[in-house]
Amino acid sequence: MIKPLLFSLALFSIGACKGQPSTVEKPSYPVTKSEAAWRKQLTPEQFEVTRKKGTERAFTGAYWDHHETGTYVCICCDHPLFSSATKFESGTGWPSFWQPIKTKNVEEISDNSYGMQRTEVNCSRCGAHLGHVFNDGPKPTGLRYCMNSASLKFVKP
Ligand code: FE
Repeated sequence: MIKPLLFSLALFSIGACKGQPSTVEKPSYPVTKSEAAWRKQLTPEQFEVTRKKGTERAFTGAYWDHHETGTYVCICCDHPLFSSATKFESGTGWPSFWQPIKTKNVEEISDNSYGMQRTEVNCSRCGAHLGHVFNDGPKPTGLRYCMNSASLKFVKP
């Protein structure tokens, strides 16, 4: 009983001395919830995409062919993300926009997973994964925010 405890303490000390990061995740977004809470709030697909960086299958989401006027907000925290005024037909099967509602409403980080160099786009309020942004979009920005419908909720004006 005592030996494992001492061993754990020793490991903890070594970790502390080396300045290793704590295993307790620090909340870095204004909105944070436990994985269990997100699972309860979201559908399995919404959870997989937003909290596990998944990607919905092309041409299957609710918004790739959606053309109403309004705002697309974060499915997790209702943060306004994209306006229908910047939505365009990308032909990809995912809802695509040439700019976010406000630059600060999204977080863009380098993503080198799956052997590709991409820029991941997250909600800046809750960290939800939204999709990726590419440089082959239309004018005026030349950007293509390729989003998952599962990460978004459409709100009429
Ligand atoms: Fe959010």
